[in-house]
Amino acid sequence: MTQLISLQPFSNWKLYMISFSQIGFWQIRFTTSAKFKLELVIFFKKKNIANHTISTQGLFEGMKAYRKEDGQLVLFRPDQNAIRLQTGAERMCMPSPSIDQFIDAVKQTALANKRWVPPPGKGSLYIRPLLVGSGPILGLAPAPEYTFLVFASPVGNYFKEGLAPLNLYVEDEFHRATPGGAGGVKAISNYAPVLKAISRAKNRGFSDVLYLDSVNKKNLEEVSSCNIFILKGNIISTPATSGTILAGITRKSIIEIASDCGFQVEERAIPVDELLEADEVFCTGTAVVVAPVGSITYRGKRIEFKTGAQSVSRELYSTLVGIQTGLIKDNKGWTVEIN
Ligand SMILES: *Cc1c(COP(=O)(O)O)cnc(C)c1O
Repeated sequence: MTQLISLQPFSNWKLYMISFSQIGFWQIRFTTSAKFKLELVIFFKKKNIANHTISTQGLFEGMKAYRKEDGQLVLFRPDQNAIRLQTGAERMCMPSPSIDQFIDAVKQTALANKRWVPPPGKGSLYIRPLLVGSGPILGLAPAPEYTFLVFASPVGNYFKEGLAPLNLYVEDEFHRATPGGAGGVKAISNYAPVLKAISRAKNRGFSDVLYLDSVNKKNLEEVSSCNIFILKGNIISTPATSGTILAGITRKSIIEIASDCGFQVEERAIPVDELLEADEVFCTGTAVVVAPVGSITYRGKRIEFKTGAQSVSRELYSTLVGIQTGLIKDNKGWTVEIN
């Protein structure tokens, strides 16, 4: 039930009263003009005046359900997302679902939205689990209760042009993460601080931002929401995850695939100067899969890299997508069929 009451003296404000009778909460929402929207939402319990808030604790996950060539729906390494959520929850003083509860929730969400999973090669169902503290608390303390939600949405391929190379901008003013912070876990607070750097880079015509370590401003860390690799000869290197880099599941999978393909894979500190000698650079993440980097601009100097059909990044991309969509036999037990 929603009631509209005009509220004096704020004549341009509308007051919505929504009664969630089943759950025993009232919600009052004030809305000003359509353009400038000040929303003040107050939840209070029918009898007690208890503030119902979402606490500062929050973690998310990102994963995809794919439709294989034979019609089967698969998840890719969902146990890894479950484990990462548990690690993050420990850092954030939150309880977390068990691995089985997590996988079951994700499976049920994917199955309930089965008809929205695009055909093979056309996209996937993006799944976004969210764990947040909730309950009546305003003080700085762990929340009294926690909410675990799973959102899902069909998505096309991340890049409109298919595998269009990224043009990255090296940021040495803003940082994504600092030692001892929460950059190494998938905290909901990780993305907001990089929006400014991203929008500045986009305004200058770049696709995304490559961050350096915040202590020495010297070593590569990662891109806003994906990990980075560089190729030189037969060696593929990626920054070691030591707390300020998000340990991507795509990163982990590509390390294994590249080793299987005969590359020497190194996880180590990579000084930004090494970009000058790199043959190829690419990014990995659930959203981008394996994305070639065409150029990186650092202090006004633009460095270009090999991309295209003959590149190593394309070979790694095809192998990973092949496993995910069932074109290549999954000998590693990475895909989990769910119907
Ligand atoms: C999610 C995320 C990644 C990629 O992780 P995947 O498990 O491969 O999707 C990389 N960096 C950041 C900052 C992220 O939030």
